[in-house]
Amino acid sequence: MQFLFAYHTSAMTSNHTSSDRFRTSIVPPRIDLFSDTVTRPTQTMRAAMAEAEVGDEQRGEDPTVNRLRERVCELLGTEDALFLPSGTMCNQISLRVHCAPGDEIITDVSAHVRHYESGGPAALSGVNITTVTGTDGVFSAAQMLQALRPDDNHFPPSRAVVLEQTANLPGGVVWPLEAMRDVCATAEKHGLRSHLDGARLFNAVVADGVPAADYCALFDSVWIDFTKGLGAPVGAALAGSADFIRRAWRFKHQFGGAMRQSGVIAAAALYALDHHIDRLAEDHRNARRFAEAIAGVPGLTVEPVHTNMVFFQVADASGFAKATLAHGVQFSVVGPNRLRAVTHLDVTASQVDEAAEVVRRVAVSWSA
Ligand SMILES: *Cc1c(COP(=O)(O)O)cnc(C)c1O
Repeated sequence: MQFLFAYHTSAMTSNHTSSDRFRTSIVPPRIDLFSDTVTRPTQTMRAAMAEAEVGDEQRGEDPTVNRLRERVCELLGTEDALFLPSGTMCNQISLRVHCAPGDEIITDVSAHVRHYESGGPAALSGVNITTVTGTDGVFSAAQMLQALRPDDNHFPPSRAVVLEQTANLPGGVVWPLEAMRDVCATAEKHGLRSHLDGARLFNAVVADGVPAADYCALFDSVWIDFTKGLGAPVGAALAGSADFIRRAWRFKHQFGGAMRQSGVIAAAALYALDHHIDRLAEDHRNARRFAEAIAGVPGLTVEPVHTNMVFFQVADASGFAKATLAHGVQFSVVGPNRLRAVTHLDVTASQVDEAAEVVRRVAVSWSA
């Protein structure tokens, strides 16, 4: 499988200028499969936000945020939880708690924390990253041990292992519980902390039927994102032991993530947990539907579908994405030959069919 990490753009934002970003927001694509982050809060979610009871979150006095923290603890089976503005901040705060400057973390070569967080581990925590090349993002305890540093002053101390559920760039791949258990147990045996990037944890829960708490019990720290498949506008929750969360509060403040009347957005997250978990199955069905619909298209290779993402390969990914966008359908470009379609709350089965038809038309006109 091809990874070219410099990519991950929409056709319209490929040169990363702010004017292009604005252009995208002024003329949104008709069918946006760029990411599951593009969802807008539903009317009923907005109503829940409007009615939220609020207080000063920074002082632990926002009742809606506190309800969300309790709810997250129940769902993930953790002692405590913290509401944060983003998943990126969950990853960065966790590394800051677990590591000292010069420490090293072990993660898969495709990991979000390595590629898409603006160098945060180095900038904010002085952390070195070493990688293992798993099979579709899933690596073994033996691979992790090969990356483990000997106890010698020459080497950065190995401090933590980071897993991603689902593994995004490899294809929305679900780590099997047993594989995770093996890696985490081995990590513990060697004095490594374990951290779960659960941006799409509930996609795994819905796909494999494993309760979220079963995955989370294996880790020292875990987080979930409310703004991916769950469809909330802002926020993520970091969870772990009472001691871990106590230390995380300090860096939440230090990194500028302490909020005030954030019950307004916590209400959207609570709403999402109540109403938008089970429906992820529909996104998974739509992803398979899309993959099947474009499977026979000439000049195009579809990768296996695991959850709500469909990766497919074409000769010129960025040219292809521009061509589909001209027909109102947006994908993300994740390599010179690789495109990603993500299904979500704001795309229906018939829109998926329509998007597949656009892919077919563009591919046929290119191969003619
Ligand atoms: C989106 C994502 C993140 C970052 O979450 P944000 O809420 O966008 O900051 C981290 N890890 C993975 C795997 C993601 O997909």
